[in-house]
Amino acid sequence: RLISLEGGEGAGKTTAINALRDALQARGHEVLLTREPGGTPLAERIRALVLTPDADIAHEPLSAEAELLLVFAARAQHVRQTIQPALRRGAYVISDRFTDSSYAYQGGGRGLDPAWIADLERRAVGLLPGLTLLLDVDVATGRARANGRDLWPDRIESEQDDFFQRVRAVFRQRAGEDPQRFRLIDASQDQPGVARSVVAAVDAWLAQ
Ligand code: C5P
Ligand code: MG
Repeated sequence: RLISLEGGEGAGKTTAINALRDALQARGHEVLLTREPGGTPLAERIRALVLTPDADIAHEPLSAEAELLLVFAARAQHVRQTIQPALRRGAYVISDRFTDSSYAYQGGGRGLDPAWIADLERRAVGLLPGLTLLLDVDVATGRARANGRDLWPDRIESEQDDFFQRVRAVFRQRAGEDPQRFRLIDASQDQPGVARSVVAAVDAWLAQ
């Protein structure tokens, strides 16, 4: 009952997630919406360290290795504090990003060894979504959309197009390797279209 949404920048994840929550609730399910990095007060503090460092530390570049460990520290806490309790009481949990994002961003984007990520996943997470929706859009389209809403991440100079090409490639590769868990959503559609595709994919998964 854990569903994750993954994808690059400007894919329409947030809109799709809200539509998905509404649809599941309308079908009578308890739904917990959460996000990564974050999902607990402590993990949200880690998110802020990684994504929006304050002035005291803004001058200090975050190493790829520290980023990986911080994201996994947040995830370990998120799983135990938020996700597991909700799953135990029978809720559907929808997570805006999960471990696949670490393979994509810290692995593909930042070049860290996927075997290390797999080891952290096994030891610190130990939980795989039953369904993962990959909102896939080419980098140029995603960038144009995210720029329009001033959402394109500018925190790391290396977050240029080739970084996001590698992020996208890893997401797509993982989706191809596990068609049982992944559904590939064409996120080049407009936002309502993406949201409708996501809800339809989840309805089909619930019915199977
Ligand atoms: O709204 P969104 O989920 O796209 O924002 C989260 C940000 O966190 C993204 O800009 C993404 O680059 C970053 N992130 C990351 N590594 C992760 C998860 C998210 O760098 N494992
Ligand atoms: Mg978003």
